[in-house]
Amino acid sequence: MKRTLIEVFLAIALIGASVFGWTNWKQNGAAGPQITELKAAAEEAAKTAKTSEDAVKAAQEEMAALREEMAPLESKVQQLEAVKAALANGATLADLEAAYKKDKNLSAERQVGLGALRMLTKGANDPATLESFRKALQISDFGNRKNTICAAQIGLAAAGEKVTIMSECLPKGAKDDKGEKSEGKDAKADDKHAKADDKKGGKHAAPHWGYEGEMGPEKWGKEFPTCAKGKSQSPLDIRGPFVKGRIVVTADYKEGALRMLNNGHTIQVNVNPGSKLRVDGIAYDLLQFHFHRPSEEKIDGKPLAMVVHFVHKNAEGKLAVLGVLLKEGNENPGIKTLWTNMPKAEGPEVEVGGVKFNPGNLLPKEFDFYSYEGSLTTPPCTEGVRFFILKTPVNVAKEQVAEFPFKLNARPVQAQNGREIVTN
Ligand SMILES: [Zn+2]
Repeated sequence: MKRTLIEVFLAIALIGASVFGWTNWKQNGAAGPQITELKAAAEEAAKTAKTSEDAVKAAQEEMAALREEMAPLESKVQQLEAVKAALANGATLADLEAAYKKDKNLSAERQVGLGALRMLTKGANDPATLESFRKALQISDFGNRKNTICAAQIGLAAAGEKVTIMSECLPKGAKDDKGEKSEGKDAKADDKHAKADDKKGGKHAAPHWGYEGEMGPEKWGKEFPTCAKGKSQSPLDIRGPFVKGRIVVTADYKEGALRMLNNGHTIQVNVNPGSKLRVDGIAYDLLQFHFHRPSEEKIDGKPLAMVVHFVHKNAEGKLAVLGVLLKEGNENPGIKTLWTNMPKAEGPEVEVGGVKFNPGNLLPKEFDFYSYEGSLTTPPCTEGVRFFILKTPVNVAKEQVAEFPFKLNARPVQAQNGREIVTN
């Protein structure tokens, strides 16, 4: 700053000198060349001063931006200190450990909770701390416990362990925001897009499973044994002979807020309570629905363009999946609404403001179905899931299929192992 001021003064002095010189030159032509030289020097100095001034201004702006960014961090540090102080005497941890002692098989969530508490009470290097996080990671299945997996990975990393933290665990847009503040130029915007594309391609993420190559369905069993050893796995190639049954299935879906997420494996719509599937009078609550491309189920050996799986749970915890096949044809208005609002890149759930959606819009009028006892079609491939695949497909436009961000997210068909396929 001081230097800049000196340079500005120097510039003014030189300009003054040159003006004086120029007046003088009018009276005395002999001083001409010297004056020109002085003028050039003055201009040069003025330019330098301007550049330095700009640099100082930019530095000041950067400092202000940094200070702004630091403010919330400072309060976070304070909060953390408060939590640490509250747990300092270890009584809370001892209490929790005593309460959990009876339970031999702690859930992943409890393991993570213990890990966090141990880290804050005993420190990151305590073997018990590491053990809790490791255990949580071992027993978490990716499908519905991403948050727990993230917590365990971040916990281990904080304890100095070498672990790969999945990209989906990192705070969203943390880096992007910074880039925008300091420069906000096109180059940064391109960088951002590149990052989003990377994520979609999964190159930088470390997913537990996928649909191709090293993470593909043939390898799921390594980490999720039921996927390989289960005897009633889904999906199936649906072909006769069928067993005639008398099950009555009706769907009573309600319009609600549109909550969507791209979980890196599919586009999923989470459904508010109130929508139900009734199987012989037993109510199953619709939890979510999601898409596969092509359809996971094959009909007489052939897949359709896509399938929607509506996932339900009854009061006893039993799962039921209603599958609606999508065949190439006219545009599907329901899917148009969904695709317009879907998150293209992987991330947490977003609630689409001002848009209501009724899942019933994706159902055909006819409710004839094939039904069989199967499993989740994604890890951990848990069995005991009742499937109802509607015989009547609904339309989806070729362009709409192409717009779906996952080119292939269908598990291959599994061995039937003597299971009956019932039709109504
Ligand atoms: Zn599915």
